[in-house]
Amino acid sequence: MTQASDTHFTEEELTAHAMGEPSASIAAHLVGCVTCAKLVEQIGRLKTDIAELPDEDVPASVRRRILSSARFRGHASRRKPGHPFLDWVRSPAVLIVGAMLLLFLLYFAYVSLG
Ligand SMILES: [Zn+2]
Repeated sequence: MTQASDTHFTEEELTAHAMGEPSASIAAHLVGCVTCAKLVEQIGRLKTDIAELPDEDVPASVRRRILSSARFRGHASRRKPGHPFLDWVRSPAVLIVGAMLLLFLLYFAYVSLG
């Protein structure tokens, strides 16, 4: 029982699990680990919150900026293959969560500005 919670999964692994790449070993770990379970729950809640945001509340200029920054990162990583930081940034889970966090923050900034 305690064996499962001796070593935690990384945020990247938990994010991938919560974002649609379920892992049997993570699922088993979550049963006995409150720390990882909470993180997965938060990621899931963020995913739901963002999915519920109306499309028209995200300005087109914001979408363009996110898309162009994603394109820039992809281009940079092709120029320097094997760079550890770029490998990390290039991973789909990090890009998805990064874009979602950015949208989430921009949404609240946009709403509070009226
Ligand atoms: Zn854990």
